[in-house]
Amino acid sequence: MRSIFACSLLLSASLALAQSAPNTNIDPALWRKIAKMPAFDNHAHIQDVAPPGEEDHGFDALPCPPGVASTLVADSHINLMYLDAWHALYGYPFHDASPEHLKTLFRERAAAQKREGDRYPSWVLNQMGIAQINANRITMGLGLTASRFHWVPYDDSLLFPLNNRVLESVNPDRAYFFPREERIFRGYLQQAGLSQIPATLADYVARVIVPTLESQKQHGAVAIKFEAAYLRSLQFRPASEEDAARIYAKYVAGTVPDSREYRRLQDFLFRTIAREAGRAGLAVHIHTGNGCGAYYDLQGGHAELLTAVFDDPTLNKTNFVILHGGEPFTEEIVALITKPNVYVDFSTIDVGSSPRELSRVLRRWIESMPDKILFGTDMYPGGPDDSWEETGWVATRSAREALAMALTGLVRDGIITRPRALEIARGILYNNAARLYGLAPAK
Ligand SMILES: [Zn+2]
Repeated sequence: MRSIFACSLLLSASLALAQSAPNTNIDPALWRKIAKMPAFDNHAHIQDVAPPGEEDHGFDALPCPPGVASTLVADSHINLMYLDAWHALYGYPFHDASPEHLKTLFRERAAAQKREGDRYPSWVLNQMGIAQINANRITMGLGLTASRFHWVPYDDSLLFPLNNRVLESVNPDRAYFFPREERIFRGYLQQAGLSQIPATLADYVARVIVPTLESQKQHGAVAIKFEAAYLRSLQFRPASEEDAARIYAKYVAGTVPDSREYRRLQDFLFRTIAREAGRAGLAVHIHTGNGCGAYYDLQGGHAELLTAVFDDPTLNKTNFVILHGGEPFTEEIVALITKPNVYVDFSTIDVGSSPRELSRVLRRWIESMPDKILFGTDMYPGGPDDSWEETGWVATRSAREALAMALTGLVRDGIITRPRALEIARGILYNNAARLYGLAPAK
């Protein structure tokens, strides 16, 4: 099975490079336009240009614990689309990924980085046709200019202001994650001019949460990101302020909180942060569906658990984006995106699934709410031959093919016209995100 699948990808990719439709499931006229449309990447862990001798550590608050296996399609040693990516980006001349040949890849990548200097991230995006991008990073850095790179900081740490020793003892993944969150939290406290958390919940909201969101907005953020599914369930139940304030005061001095009480406080804080984000004009991005790690709770990451949050009338000024399409639970998204303040992106699916699989998901969503679907790559530095450049390139290419395939099916079935199909493609690739984040639409 593996070799059949790989061969079809090679054929598909080489035909696409010749600018004809990648396969007979794609209308050539649609493909010619969709292949060239500018894209707005809703979710990416792009790297900055690190000063000589330094490494970029700002691209993820919770990197995967070491030793996590990649899927077949995301694996550069199997997926032949990676060869096309390396060829397109660096002129890689080989048809395999042998250790000897990969030396050429690393040499050519280093040469491109040297040649482009601070412009390197922008140059890479130009090769993929990505015009605008949301950079999900702890901090922004060199080469990520504000006109093109929009900041999406992490705010999970604000949910966990108390003693987290019990939470981190749940499993080795959590033991790896919580100290990382606490480091970010200390940074936020410091920025707020505090050396410890305030004595009351009201003060915590007023002196830490609100100023942190305002500062993020001032520094170019268009959204905030929660990867809470790595740390707890996404079921944030309604919680009264009175109850939350009592729990906060009970444990603020540092004693280990009762898990159920702490969870109620987190529930209250999540809704408070979401409300304040909406007030500040920041969308709320939420990691949903599957996640990495040996102990990831798939059910706890189900996007459907967020229904009560989406339906909370006090949060109707906040726009939410379901990241990664809830994969593998993509069916439920059809219903969730009918809510006025809920969007979905398909970041990760376009690098973790084949274009054909993604096209099935996209068609279901397009039949529901095409204006609520956002393109995203989740480009990520996963290793020297699986870095953000090639994952971004493969995801973008795969997304365009999948979109063209889904829209071709809708046109051929007599559901929509070809002009409407192109309008939907422009929306999903760029204009839906531009509208959500207040940027001008693509021409
Ligand atoms: Zn991500």
